[in-house]
Amino acid sequence: KVRTRFAPSPTGFIHLGNIRSALYPWAFARANGGDFILRIEDTDLERSTQASVDVILESMSWLGMTPDEGPFYQMQRMDRYKEVLKQLQEQGAVYPCYMSMAELDALREKQMAAKEKPRYDGTWRPEPGKVLPPLPEGVQPVLRFKNPTTGAVVWDDKVKGRIEVSNEELDDLVIARPDGTPTYNFCVVVDDIDMAITHVIRGDDHVNNTPRQINIFKALGKEPPVFAHLPTVLNEQGEKLSKRHGAKAVTQYRDEGYLADAMINYLARLGWSHGDDEIFSREQFLQWFDLDHLGSSAARFDEAKLRWVNAQHLKAMDDDALVVLLKPRLLARGIAQAALDDGHLTSIVALFKDRCETLEDLAQWAQVFYVDVPVINEADYQQHVTDAARPAIAALRAAFADIAWSKETISATFKTVLKEQGLKMPQLAMPVRVLTVGVAHTPSVDAVLELLGQKKVIEFLSKA
Ligand code: GLU
Repeated sequence: KVRTRFAPSPTGFIHLGNIRSALYPWAFARANGGDFILRIEDTDLERSTQASVDVILESMSWLGMTPDEGPFYQMQRMDRYKEVLKQLQEQGAVYPCYMSMAELDALREKQMAAKEKPRYDGTWRPEPGKVLPPLPEGVQPVLRFKNPTTGAVVWDDKVKGRIEVSNEELDDLVIARPDGTPTYNFCVVVDDIDMAITHVIRGDDHVNNTPRQINIFKALGKEPPVFAHLPTVLNEQGEKLSKRHGAKAVTQYRDEGYLADAMINYLARLGWSHGDDEIFSREQFLQWFDLDHLGSSAARFDEAKLRWVNAQHLKAMDDDALVVLLKPRLLARGIAQAALDDGHLTSIVALFKDRCETLEDLAQWAQVFYVDVPVINEADYQQHVTDAARPAIAALRAAFADIAWSKETISATFKTVLKEQGLKMPQLAMPVRVLTVGVAHTPSVDAVLELLGQKKVIEFLSKA
């Protein structure tokens, strides 16, 4: 059974590049009837925060990436790591190293001066017939992993292809600190084994850890999982996506009115393709996703494209479903629940969704129908509510008072007044829009006025 995981370190906020590293393993599990596991890698006590865990959970829950298992927390698994550490010790796969920080620094400097790659030189590594240095007093040793000294680590990365790293390039990794706490690369392997992970799909910033991890898998007698290392997501300037370079938090996109399904669609395409398909539903994506069509070059985040994708999903979405998403946004704008239940919201959504890119755009339009005084765009007012238009506006208002309110009667009234006044439709429709909904460009004026209601329209027009 396919088992994948998302293993974030809760050390900061979570941007689109981070959540894309959750999207693919989630989708791969779903596409293969497998399980998706969430593991919080919180062993960096100084930088890990509960707030950051909460944001991870919130972002995933917004996008509907529900884990089948977890969240597991590495800090709660310390006993288990120590148990496995003991096992490695018993089988002679690790050894204590008493080299002090000062000695390590000196070694590094010497190697750098000789233009060599800094690496541990194996001073404390026991070998048959080798005499180890005398034990220094009062030094708590670290535990180092006995990396093989010959051969190579080879794996077929699902994104990067075959990767081969000679064991000569890998030194003996510290897997437990002097106080006995296990280090990162070791915990990851124990977790991936215990959680029976079959496919590790993660950012390619971990590619250098992989050969070390594979050697630990082997020392523990386990077959390593399949690896897929995802290329970085760059921002519009070509820098690595990061908070420092202005990346927004995932939850900010939610707040700005992006749809979860559009976000999934956009992120899916940022590094994976399905023929020429640009717009697809969550269900399609979860059926289609595979590792064979992951791209191998860095993807560039493009907010304009994201807006476009969002607009396509908004347009295609069911009106009533949009109403459900819209209501909290209108409540947040101070509109009363009772007003929102007037039954018009669905029609408003149907009329405006085609011209909106986000839920906030849609909320902005919907709000227009629930205010007591229209917020009038000054430039539009100057341009369209001219003295030449005023007599026609007055005539229209007067005629509106006497009709049974419907799109048809509104449209007929416009025609009568236009004929009487010798005007063309835009000469009257534009100022009427400005006075009633605040701006000159809207969907068809009769539909808009019908939704606004007879009382408000007459009241607003009298302010001309
Ligand atoms: N905790 C690591 C990170 O946040 C991920 C490790 C992994 O996926 O193996 O970058």
